[in-house]
Amino acid sequence: MNSFISRFAPSPTGDLHLGHAYSAFCAWQAAGASSANFKLRIDDLDFTRCKDEYSERQIEDLKWLGLSWDEAPLYQNQRLGRYQEALAELKDRALIYPCLLTRSEVRQILSAPQADGSLRHAITASETEKRLEKGTQPAWRLDMERIKKITPELTWHDENYGLQIVDLDKIGDAVIARRDIGASYHLSVVFDDADSAIEMVVRGRDLLADTAIHRLLQFLFDLPTPRYAHHALIVDDTGKRLAKRDDARAIRSFREAGFSPTELFDLCVKSKE
Ligand code: GLU
Repeated sequence: MNSFISRFAPSPTGDLHLGHAYSAFCAWQAAGASSANFKLRIDDLDFTRCKDEYSERQIEDLKWLGLSWDEAPLYQNQRLGRYQEALAELKDRALIYPCLLTRSEVRQILSAPQADGSLRHAITASETEKRLEKGTQPAWRLDMERIKKITPELTWHDENYGLQIVDLDKIGDAVIARRDIGASYHLSVVFDDADSAIEMVVRGRDLLADTAIHRLLQFLFDLPTPRYAHHALIVDDTGKRLAKRDDARAIRSFREAGFSPTELFDLCVKSKE
């Protein structure tokens, strides 16, 4: 079987559950069950929700599952400088713009019948100025109007979903730096995966649509595109996706109930949608 450098990248916002275990197992298999190929990244960019104690508990659970990694885990919160540099480059190239709209303004504009996904000109320059003077931090959004002029048709291949074509209209003026954390999931993962030389990104199919944004950023920054494998999600007995806060489905609860890692893996396979 082929093996690739792959990674598992949990966000430390709670304990890992069955869905995470399945994702981690799939990434571990892609790595040929080799600690030299398997990398752990802690996606703790969102300091409003992430806690160190959760990453410690997550690492303990992953070790119990039988996974191991030779390299020290990568922590996103230690890489903010890297993301800031990337953001500065996008600003210099005028591919992003500051957005001072409130959440409800954005919702209102995008739900209007004629909405074309562009928020660029939604408020006047003087209103923008006024909000900046008041100290409001802007979010930074992709300037899709400009990006479209320099972007050819982009595609990527998914091991499970086949050829994917990037639809720039669907991406629209996506937020690339949140006003509270000054970066975003999209910007960080693209640089993290490239800097860690990840060859195969394995994750749930709920992130399939986001990969189009990642493919676009890889083009804009001239970064390599890894292989992707988005997998089916784990559902409960009623077919509903597991909630993050479902403690009964936490790896820890199965451990305490006497499950072995192999039994847990079998349960994951049985619980796929
Ligand atoms: N940290 C993300 C999550 O827990 C996963 C990101 C990724 O695999 O790209 O949903």
